Amino acid sequence: MNVLIVFAHPERHSLNGALLDVAVAELTAQGHEVKVSDLYAMHWKSAIDRDDFPTLADDGPLKVWKASNDGFAADALTPDVKAEQEKLLWADTVILQFPLWWFAMPAILKGWVDRVYASGFAYGVGEHSDQRWGDRYGEGVMAGKRAMLMVTAGGWPEHYSDRGINGPMDDLLFPINHGILFYPGFTVLPPFVAYRVDRMDEAKFAPVAEQLRERMKTLETTTPIPYRKQNFGDYQIPTMELLPGLTPPGARGFEVHLAPERD
Ligand code: FAD
Repeated sequence: MNVLIVFAHPERHSLNGALLDVAVAELTAQGHEVKVSDLYAMHWKSAIDRDDFPTLADDGPLKVWKASNDGFAADALTPDVKAEQEKLLWADTVILQFPLWWFAMPAILKGWVDRVYASGFAYGVGEHSDQRWGDRYGEGVMAGKRAMLMVTAGGWPEHYSDRGINGPMDDLLFPINHGILFYPGFTVLPPFVAYRVDRMDEAKFAPVAEQLRERMKTLETTTPIPYRKQNFGDYQIPTMELLPGLTPPGARGFEVHLAPERD
């Protein structure tokens, strides 16, 4: 299996760097091919702007969606973006690894998504009509590939529990898991989250590393998050609202997009 890890930490000699080493060593030991996009080491340009579209005319406003769509169709996106897109197409499994910063991914990784996820590649894919809103949420270019998040957080697990003050971790990660991974078609695995990491030492590191090794061993067999697919009868067209009666009484928020059983 081919595994791409997109690594978003400014310091290679960090806890995240150590966890990356654990993951790469285990995946390699399992016989997988691994590529790492170390975004800070690559000096990844995180802001999408006019420079992303070299063939765009100088005059006139920049419309990112159109420029992205035209640039992708003409194979005219920048070499750094094209290289990342090729890695995504190469990968069977993609892992986004990052420290939780302000309850979200670091800006450099969000900028990777903004630039690499071009129109025609990650969105704007498939038929768009009164009857169909494209191939997304379970379908798309990444269909058949797996993806997961590898996250470290300073907060305690309790802080991220159902009644924890930070809100549930599954809710915080929903926009990434559902909006960034499931949207272009990935099958999304439950995230690996290491909590309370700022006072980590060797004794605390050992069990975390072991849990991570186990997750790397089971990438191909782990049961995915059972998100409902868009085009398989659960949503009304064109409002894209979940049909009434599909969720247990009282269910609300992100959890309504989980199917009781996967298709
Ligand atoms: P490091 O700082 O590199 O290391 C953490 C600890 O692990 C250190 O004690 C280090 O000595 C030890 N360590 C490192 N490597 C090893 C090893 N190989 N073996 C044993 N011990 C080791 N947290 C939240 O919960 N929610 C937030 O919203 C949030 N926002 C943040 C925003 C910012 C801007 C910042 C800077 C931090 C934020 N944090 C938040 C905390 C953040 O998530 C953690 O600091 C981060 O996840 C720690 O990962 P690291 O790789 O940077 O750890």
